[in-house]
Amino acid sequence: MAQAIYRKKTYKEIFLDNKLLNDQQLQQVETEVKKTGEFFHQVVLDMKYVAKTDILKILSQSWSVDCVDLSSLTIDPEIVKIIPKQSSKRYNAVPFAREENMLSVAMVDTRALFVMDDISLRTGLQVKPYLAMPEDIKILLDKVYNPEDFQTASEEKNDQKPAVSHAEFEADAKELTAELIAGLDVMGDLQLDDTAREEQQDIMQVDTSAPEVEKLVNVLILEAIRLKASDIHIEPYENRLAVRYRVDGRLRRGSFKIPFSFKQALIAKIKIMTNSMNLTERRIPQDGRIQVKAKGQPIEFRVNIVPTIHGESVVMRILDRSGSTAQLDQLGFLPDVIEKFLLSLSKPYGLILVCGPTGSGKSYTLSAALTAIKNPDDKVLTAENPVEYNLDGVVQVQVNPDLKMGADKVFDFAMALRSFLRQDPDIIMVGEIRDKETAQISMEAAMTGHLVLSTLHTNDAPSAISRLSEMGVHTFLIANTLECVLAQRLIGTLCKNCKEPDKDPTPEMLKALAENNIDYSKANFMKIHPGGCQKCNGRGMKGRTAIHELLVMNEEFRRFCIKEVSAGPLRDMAKKQGMRPLVADGLIKVTMGLTTYDEIMAAAT
Ligand SMILES: [Zn+2]
Repeated sequence: MAQAIYRKKTYKEIFLDNKLLNDQQLQQVETEVKKTGEFFHQVVLDMKYVAKTDILKILSQSWSVDCVDLSSLTIDPEIVKIIPKQSSKRYNAVPFAREENMLSVAMVDTRALFVMDDISLRTGLQVKPYLAMPEDIKILLDKVYNPEDFQTASEEKNDQKPAVSHAEFEADAKELTAELIAGLDVMGDLQLDDTAREEQQDIMQVDTSAPEVEKLVNVLILEAIRLKASDIHIEPYENRLAVRYRVDGRLRRGSFKIPFSFKQALIAKIKIMTNSMNLTERRIPQDGRIQVKAKGQPIEFRVNIVPTIHGESVVMRILDRSGSTAQLDQLGFLPDVIEKFLLSLSKPYGLILVCGPTGSGKSYTLSAALTAIKNPDDKVLTAENPVEYNLDGVVQVQVNPDLKMGADKVFDFAMALRSFLRQDPDIIMVGEIRDKETAQISMEAAMTGHLVLSTLHTNDAPSAISRLSEMGVHTFLIANTLECVLAQRLIGTLCKNCKEPDKDPTPEMLKALAENNIDYSKANFMKIHPGGCQKCNGRGMKGRTAIHELLVMNEEFRRFCIKEVSAGPLRDMAKKQGMRPLVADGLIKVTMGLTTYDEIMAAAT
């Protein structure tokens, strides 16, 4: 055990003070301790000089701490695994119960305060120490991590396909994270450092090659993979460094904390990994990319750093380039909607738009659409900023508006599009239509025999027409090239593991269903189980799906929008022609028991 603050009595002193050992016994115990390296009190027990209950009692009295006889308890292995095996072994400490934020940890030596600090730091939980016998801790660890379990696990692995499944990858990442966290010996101690000096430190003197920094970055990334996070946020505050992950659209804390004294080194290391950021510049925002491999899988991060009053704040967005292809049928489409959408996608030319605010999954849907329609005979080109999903058989171009090319030429969407047309494509995907020029070229391309897919930042489908018109595109062009507009939102879904039937739907919800002409006579309403379960981290919600609103252009609508471009009338007309609004699509998913009324109202109104 490492050095800790030992103000309390030693085992030997306690046994002698309580007159539990005579001189001869003491000598035998000490000889045995020297020979075996066992703990003093374990040897006393093994030699049957004092009973276990008495040993625990006198030690816990002397050190003013509760004790536990682990051999008499039934313990959930998952609780034990809250701390990595290596840490448990090194610290002779093992968690055996958890209540909310309080982790009960059985320890051989409760005087080792740093062990508690370290466990608390790594788990984010408060630690309540209990004194336990060394042998009982060893037996419990063996029980939980026994070799038979490992054998079954590896046999199962062999049955799987040679490709690394996501579950396996995740399990590996989890294991690796645990190992790496276990390797961060210094974390607990560093957290206690005086942080006042830190600001004066010269960035060039920060040791970014320290193995701890490297491990820390690895842990950050692996944790993101394990959580299936979309972003990693590293935020400096006055005297702490917060790490949060965006999972299913919501921010949540990581399972470990980063010592504040690592701040400079960590951010410097991230900058170095981008190969492009300025290490010494800490006053202006910077953008970059990091490419890494985790277990052979390539992962790319888009990194953005902004200066804050407490130092630089980092957001790392994970760009999924692992080759996991977006599939349209996994995006929560109702059957009639996907049928119509696929019909539009099968057209040889025209413009198809996906709309929604930032974070509504537009580019994911677009990638899935492209995957669904492309065939080997088509030439497919994309202009994206950035390229978010790798698509096989598709020529993907990353535009870079910051890249100056001569006088006032920049490599933006419009420029990419113009050059694309000389590359003889069949299908073109443009990341986003933001300006008149991009809109104009996209629509001209759609007019001249290309299928063009893009996104637009509007809240609903009919507004796309208004937006394009506001940009200055002629309504004739809009009416004649637009094929369909899909608006969407991402919504949280109920945890499949713990959701429960909602036998008491609110009048408000029933009214909304009736207003949207949704038949709920056969509805299967479900609600959040209060307190959730382990699988959903107590939230009752897990995972996401999308809700949609699809406007398909027909002759009547084309004629209508040549004269009318205001959102209101367009919307009325679209509904008259059978467009199911976002809210209605969402409410149908409520009747299917996938999500809640509140979730739909928050997302779609
Ligand atoms: Zn649950």
